[in-house]
Amino acid sequence: MKTVSSLLDDEWYARYKRISKLNIRSSIYDVTNRCNLRCKGCFFFSSGEDKAAEEEMRQDRWEAFIDNEKERGVNLAILIGGEPTLYLDRVEAFYRRLPTFCATNGLIKVPRDRFPDLMVGISLWGDENDEKTLRGKDTFAVSSRHYAGDPNTYYLYTITPKQIGKIEKIICKIKDVGVKVHMQLLSNDEGVDGFSWQPEELNDVRFEMDDMLDRYPDTVISCKYYHEVITTGKMLGRPFGWNECPSVTEPLDTRSPQPKRLIHFIRWASDLKTMHRCCTSETRDCRTCKDGAAHMSWVMVNKRAHIRTTKDLQNWIEVYEMFAKLYQFIPW
Ligand code: SF4
Ligand code: SF4
Repeated sequence: MKTVSSLLDDEWYARYKRISKLNIRSSIYDVTNRCNLRCKGCFFFSSGEDKAAEEEMRQDRWEAFIDNEKERGVNLAILIGGEPTLYLDRVEAFYRRLPTFCATNGLIKVPRDRFPDLMVGISLWGDENDEKTLRGKDTFAVSSRHYAGDPNTYYLYTITPKQIGKIEKIICKIKDVGVKVHMQLLSNDEGVDGFSWQPEELNDVRFEMDDMLDRYPDTVISCKYYHEVITTGKMLGRPFGWNECPSVTEPLDTRSPQPKRLIHFIRWASDLKTMHRCCTSETRDCRTCKDGAAHMSWVMVNKRAHIRTTKDLQNWIEVYEMFAKLYQFIPW
């Protein structure tokens, strides 16, 4: 029988042992329904999730809710929205209680005297032109001033089909301001013309992402297996989609048979009562889903299937390490 130790040499086995202790239990929280941008293709607004629930305004209720989440076993709070930095007291309530990650567009700076080591992920949707087309603003010009050199920040660079052949320019821009970058792919939820992926584009972007990782290993937080899985939508020959997705809210998950999934995962709306279907758009057709976190979690929950060859298991370890770095469970 294939076992972990029979497939790995000492170095890889030590890497495996380091992550196998982590036992990450994440959930996602809409901190607010408001945002200071309105990006075309934003899954939150395009799916009407901003209207799914009335925002809880009382700080004490947020605090009691987070205490309950901790009791429930959550050890990673992923804050999204809307724009979480519009409500820093809520962000602080999470930060004081749980390992916390804050997604932001970077227009409002998270004050480092109040949140010294909060992991911040800044969304970036391409070059100046793409950002102006899709988001109405060159956000990088602002966010890079706020976070240059910040060791607890990375750019979450959403690559669009228009970016093929131009990714290096963005990676260098980010490298030059002294922060890390993680790449994911746009799911064109609002059908903006020219921003839906064609098969040959996915092939091209995969190799461009690989090339960026080879050339900028100190800036890019990624791994080639992640690039393969997200661009092909396949893992070990199995297609991604509703039947396989690990990031479905557990109490709403009525799938049968149940796939391997994130244990106790819930995506909470900002009333702290309503649950959304999954980690991303409520209305997205799963066949078009390119959500990066869902794809990496898909790999992570399927460890057993990767105990097949040395390469498969190493691929699994690299994806797990990438996730653990992005959420500060292990150093960059
Ligand atoms: S900044 Fe984020 S939450 Fe706000 S509209 Fe854009 S994608 Fe949506
Ligand atoms: S939209 Fe994506 S993340 Fe949501 S259930 Fe479908 S596949 Fe999973």
